[in-house]
Amino acid sequence: MGVESRASIDRAQEVLRDRFGYEAFRPGQRELVEAILEGRDVLGIMPTGAGKSLCYQVPALVLPGTAIVISPLVSLMHDQVSALVGDGIPAAFLNSQLTPAQQADVLRDAAEGAYKLLYIAPERLGDSRFHAFAEQASISLIAVDEAHCVSQWGQDFRPSYLGIAAFIEQLPQRPVVAAFTATATTRVADDIIRLLGLRAPTRIVTGFDRPNLHFEVEQLTEKRKLARTASYALEHASDSGIVYCSMRKEVERLQEALVEAGVRATRYHAGLSAKERQANQRAFVNDDAPVMVATNAFGMGIDKSNVRYVIHHNMPGSLEAYYQEAGRAGRDGEPADCLLFWNDGDIATARFFIEQDTENEALTREEAETVRAAQRRRLATMAGYCLTTDCLRATILRYFGENADFASSAASGAGCGNCSNCTDNVDAVDVTLTARAIMRCVHELRGRYGKGLVADVLRGSANEKVRQFGLDRAKTYGILDASAAEIKEIIELLVVGEYLEISEGRFPLVGLGPRAREAATDEFRLHMKRVKKPARESAGGRTAMKGVSKAAALLETDEQRELFERLRVLRKSIADAEGVPPYVVFSDSALRGMCAARPLTPGELLAVSGVGPAKLDRYGAAFLAEIAR
Ligand code: ADP
Ligand code: ZN
Repeated sequence: MGVESRASIDRAQEVLRDRFGYEAFRPGQRELVEAILEGRDVLGIMPTGAGKSLCYQVPALVLPGTAIVISPLVSLMHDQVSALVGDGIPAAFLNSQLTPAQQADVLRDAAEGAYKLLYIAPERLGDSRFHAFAEQASISLIAVDEAHCVSQWGQDFRPSYLGIAAFIEQLPQRPVVAAFTATATTRVADDIIRLLGLRAPTRIVTGFDRPNLHFEVEQLTEKRKLARTASYALEHASDSGIVYCSMRKEVERLQEALVEAGVRATRYHAGLSAKERQANQRAFVNDDAPVMVATNAFGMGIDKSNVRYVIHHNMPGSLEAYYQEAGRAGRDGEPADCLLFWNDGDIATARFFIEQDTENEALTREEAETVRAAQRRRLATMAGYCLTTDCLRATILRYFGENADFASSAASGAGCGNCSNCTDNVDAVDVTLTARAIMRCVHELRGRYGKGLVADVLRGSANEKVRQFGLDRAKTYGILDASAAEIKEIIELLVVGEYLEISEGRFPLVGLGPRAREAATDEFRLHMKRVKKPARESAGGRTAMKGVSKAAALLETDEQRELFERLRVLRKSIADAEGVPPYVVFSDSALRGMCAARPLTPGELLAVSGVGPAKLDRYGAAFLAEIAR
């Protein structure tokens, strides 16, 4: 490393402290910042909340010129830029939310070098006025946020991202290109490097573990899901949360029920008008409606760091989707809950969607079948997460190819200590004999019937269908004394283990899977999860103090907690007056830092993590006054 770049890294450390008010880089950030400062392209793969933005914002301030940040999240740019300006950093954005006259203004100022960061939507790259600007501007670096949007393998493919490489190519001088994503698969990473034309990029993948997230899985009937969601939201009334449902109808039903129960909830799904979606999203981000009930259409582009819980009211179709959505909780690093409520019906619904979704005209029949096969595999993994007795965190990390050090939970009692399988009274019940009986029955019925009928036969049910098909004469008729729900759950377990298979089609049939033979061997064992004490007390109970937010509950004394709530009110009134989300003023953790340290002078306030000089200037007096009271 040259003398020059060492100097600029020292400078980066200063910027981190003096402009952003942070003491240290988080894992991965330093390496990425260093590489960018040394003029190398980078690909940063970091989970949501890890702090990707800082990786290009810090170099943008160290390097001469303007950094161009390409982001698909138009709705987010305004807040991101407000946050930077709040930290005293000259920044602006260019997107369709601005009038042509406003865009011209921004471009003129940008041409004069007025900004250290300029955020643009990828569509602007095709704009001739932007080209004219870019050709004569001094560009310090090009940061590509949500870089997986360039890949058709990702969920969020944006054709406009394919224009980025050509845009960079025709610049008179090629700046450093820094790409960031939270998508971990190598296929997507390879696409990013190729399609963005990254040159021998420094690739940094930071751990996907999010230690501040508490994971819970609860098997609940539909009715109990509603009650559980409502009581959780009420118990955490001062906290912000997202509740995901898989269908629009369900979003509307649940949101109404929550509002009726006294929860300040709003809603979001693709069937609502653009106007309502925008208004509801604002209400959520500004904490006017702290609970958002939504389909998976909601989330990407929501940069709300103080989301304290994410509840999945239905099981998503894959663990990737689950972790991404759940990961929207606790981006500020403070404790947050990720609860997954599921039942057998969720698996059936997810399966139905996979098999039904055949109308994609862009794919040949063969391609569509390949896609479906992959979806089925992902669904099985997701169901496996619901059914496992292992540490939930370890299950997730293993799936993303990471070694999880915490040992399995139910067996050893060890584990991560922060998931329901590790902390609750989870038993792994041996269901090998039942599983063998099910295998025999499926074999005997030759894969011609569905889950319900298999259960009916095994339980010796005398219903009409059983008699109609003459199944009461089967050898396996009535050999099990178990509930239908239990048999169905074990069937799902067997599907997850590939001992059984559930066929496609409108009436899914249970047949033998590729590992069916293994189930007949002596070594075969199957365990089912049984929670002795309902998990209900854990998530609420750990930190539940009625009327106190989760972040405040972490503070030690009542006095500190009371101060926290007062500072929150102050923050909200400042945020409303300035038309920005509260977290842009100060994060929850900065407020907590203030409550713990009780600074009385500007110097003491500056020492709190998350408080930089610009914020001290703007808000310091108001907060110091409130603390002094
Ligand atoms: P990502 O884009 O990776 O999801 P963000 O860039 O939005 O994450 O950062 C998440 C949160 O972490 C933000 O509130 C940010 O201010 C905070 N943060 C980032 N880096 C640091 C750091 N080094 N120290 C303290 N907080 C940080
Ligand atoms: Zn665990």
